[in-house]
Amino acid sequence: MTMTTTHQLGHIHRLGTILGLWAHPDDEAYLSAGLMALARQQGQRVVVVTATSGERGTPDPARWPPARLGALRRREMAASLAALGVTEHHWLGLPDGRCDRADPDRVVARLVEFVERAGVDTIVTFGPDGMTGHPDHRAVSAWATAVWQATGRRIRLLFATVTPQFHARWGAINDDLGIWADLDEPPCTEQDDVAVTVQCAPEVLERKLHALRAHASQTSTMIDRLGAATFQQWWATESFVDASLLYAAAPSRGSTGSTRSAESLGVA
Ligand SMILES: [Zn+2]
Repeated sequence: MTMTTTHQLGHIHRLGTILGLWAHPDDEAYLSAGLMALARQQGQRVVVVTATSGERGTPDPARWPPARLGALRRREMAASLAALGVTEHHWLGLPDGRCDRADPDRVVARLVEFVERAGVDTIVTFGPDGMTGHPDHRAVSAWATAVWQATGRRIRLLFATVTPQFHARWGAINDDLGIWADLDEPPCTEQDDVAVTVQCAPEVLERKLHALRAHASQTSTMIDRLGAATFQQWWATESFVDASLLYAAAPSRGSTGSTRSAESLGVA
């Protein structure tokens, strides 16, 4: 085991019980499969909560009406998490594409209760930009932020992000696939501001690829297009910024100001 890996495992160990809060099946795999695999390997509890079944995630809804696609994606999700050793998963049962219309107070109250009952130490989710700008992703991030505030910031809140290095290496592919199309400005966090980096070692990367392949309805076309080797390297580094750093940087004084800046993220 290299020193880097030991160092990395220590960081992950300190996250304690992890809740991954995401919008659609496959979000968790792209952004946190390595983190989850390593945490489970160390015996940490990892729970994933997914807001929707992703039942509208198809360019061909005639062939894949929501009920049929939703059922498939729920099975894909189970297989994907199994590849990472994650055994605890819950659905919020919200409609795909409409998370921003859910009553945030009800969703947040449900999540706060869950976080307290499960003894969650760290929530991992999208940043306020929703990574890709998807309204469901932004809504989920806002809920997580509200949960964090409601628990008096006792839990740790980590937002998935990407770094200038990611943009330098993958910019052409990202632009070609149009993954930042819904954003004015793509997400970018300087490496010095990243709280947790998971550099997937080959064996972890294999499991991550397995987890992503399990979401075949979403990933098989992409894997064919990029080639498995490139696809695997694309998200080989997982980066997370600490929400407290993000809000500490806001031009506000004291906790009232921080609360206000978080609330202004609102549900889009
Ligand atoms: Zn998504």
